[in-house]
Amino acid sequence: MRLIAALLAVIFTASSTFAESLHGIDPNDINRTAKPCDDFFEFANGKWRAENPIPPSMVRWSKRWEAGEKNKDVLHTILEETTAKSANAAAGSTERLIGDYYAACMDEKQVNAQGINPIEPELKAVRAIKARDDLQKAIIRLQELRVFAPFYFGSAQDPHNPAQVIADTGSAGLGLPERDYYFKDDEKSKETRQKYVEHVTATFKLAGHDEKTAAAAAETVMRMETGLAGASLTNVELRDPYATDHKMKLADVQKLTPGFQWNDYFKAMKLDSGVDFNVQEPKFLKEFDRQLREAPIGDWKTYLEWHLLRVASPSLSEPFVKQSFAFYNQYLGGAREMKPRWKRCVESTDQYLGEALGKKYVEKTFPPAAKARIQELVKNILLAMQDDIKTLTWMGEDTKQKALAKLATFNPKVGYPDKWKDYSSVKITRGPFWYNVAEGRRFATRDDLQQIGKPVDRGRWGMTPPTSNAYYNPLLNEIVFPAGILLPPLFDVNASDAVNYGGIGPVIGHEISHGFDDQGAKYGADGRLQNWWTESDNKEFERRGACVAKQFDGYEVEGGLKHNGRLVLGESIGDLGGVKLAYMAFLKSMEGKPRPPDVDGFTPEQQFFISWGQSRGDAIRPETQRQMVLTDPHPIGKYRVNGPFSNFEPFQKAFGCKEGDPMVRQQEVRCEVW
Ligand SMILES: [Zn+2]
Repeated sequence: MRLIAALLAVIFTASSTFAESLHGIDPNDINRTAKPCDDFFEFANGKWRAENPIPPSMVRWSKRWEAGEKNKDVLHTILEETTAKSANAAAGSTERLIGDYYAACMDEKQVNAQGINPIEPELKAVRAIKARDDLQKAIIRLQELRVFAPFYFGSAQDPHNPAQVIADTGSAGLGLPERDYYFKDDEKSKETRQKYVEHVTATFKLAGHDEKTAAAAAETVMRMETGLAGASLTNVELRDPYATDHKMKLADVQKLTPGFQWNDYFKAMKLDSGVDFNVQEPKFLKEFDRQLREAPIGDWKTYLEWHLLRVASPSLSEPFVKQSFAFYNQYLGGAREMKPRWKRCVESTDQYLGEALGKKYVEKTFPPAAKARIQELVKNILLAMQDDIKTLTWMGEDTKQKALAKLATFNPKVGYPDKWKDYSSVKITRGPFWYNVAEGRRFATRDDLQQIGKPVDRGRWGMTPPTSNAYYNPLLNEIVFPAGILLPPLFDVNASDAVNYGGIGPVIGHEISHGFDDQGAKYGADGRLQNWWTESDNKEFERRGACVAKQFDGYEVEGGLKHNGRLVLGESIGDLGGVKLAYMAFLKSMEGKPRPPDVDGFTPEQQFFISWGQSRGDAIRPETQRQMVLTDPHPIGKYRVNGPFSNFEPFQKAFGCKEGDPMVRQQEVRCEVW
């Protein structure tokens, strides 16, 4: 979900008649030995982190992560109740669908007894490849299962005509998290490649190959993936929508890859060969074609078998699950132990049948009245952005009018979709479990590809209702807040305005700001990729963005490992703008009312900032921190607090910070975009 950015939610403004009973920030979370003007993150939540170590199965932990895990308890109860009754439920009903799915997943005895058998038909299809023609058929068969080896294929809005959906392809097919993992030559990166080769070897052995064959297979996988990685864009390059904009006709795509028959591919995917096709990375497709023609068929069989095993392992018997966990979650992520099976089954049901489970979830947790109040809150923060644009000193009138026009077309979606996905074509049984996973994956492919060649359906959602996250989609110019994020500590109907504006407020402001970050600002009001800026305003916007990139380039996360300012730029512009918009709305909320009380000696303004510091109080495993810095466009939690606040004068005023304090960036390097 490259175009979609991160996190958000909403505030309920509590009625003043309940003011006495509203709770405020939690003074017990504060580390009083830390100074707010030195390291505000440590000050606001240091005590909570010290007293709440990361649970063994988790890789990040904060009050917000805790809330996300508690949410899974709600889904757990729904699924346990549904499963107990679902054997008698009508075939095709939501109860039967999610009940049978969850029951098959929870039947660990059956899953373990079956070992690798459930994927035998897929393995056979790969192992039986004899000629290039079979190879193409095997690639198609795997792609229907969303095993994208080596290229990704799906639907996308046409950036030049966003009302229309076209076909889209990009790079994929790597078993390491990101292309740079194949080339970095520091000791840690070399070790990671070695561990990966060992992991691939171990998985091939589990699949029945002898030691020698398995070791050779892992070397083959590494060689082929390194070639593909070398032709893939970097994660910074991928953030530029112009770098991935190559709309073509099928005949032109065919010229890029003489060894691959796109007409046959489209026929197999039941697509009209006349539709427009965006090739995100032509260089990557050429490398795919080179390997198609030059690599021995045996190497391709090995490569495809590996990616099938990689994707299927978490849904197979215990040895596969454990091997996959040991590399991806434990070595790369730093988890100490696996989540309990029920939780993995809850997550799997949400992943493949998310709108069926989500329908039950919102019935239980999200009353329609809440939706109306949240919509109102989003409206208020949009109004703050409108005031902000109007009063910007660095932007000319022409660009301002365009920015305001874009803001006016923002479409907020809250809670859950108006129209639910139709899962009636998905065949779920009580086992084998992998068959259900495969059905879910094939459905996701059909559901995605059926849109190609049609006008865009604005009702679709990119996240399931229980998800504790949010996003902005620039081609639809929409901000989306699933019900699962509308929870404490970000939002609580019984919390003070300072807590809610400081918690969920910056998240809402953040999503709005994504429409105007270095990526979002390249799209117009109708979602078209187009430049609506005057030249001088655009230059100034880029200069201001460069300031933020430079700030984050300076953050050393661990010895020798620094944030990449250009990678985290969009998210950091979002945080900087988000804090400001939420603070503007918070000040407005206090107008004409009695001043809210201090809490534990903290003024309402201080409470606002403490609330954000406590909502973002992430503790993180070093392994996950490293992976985030290398791959994730989001900065780590500490800099989502200290980054924007050290640029924000109202924060410094609220805590009496002085020039020279670490939380006060000097005037000449201070950043402000929106
Ligand atoms: Zn974001």
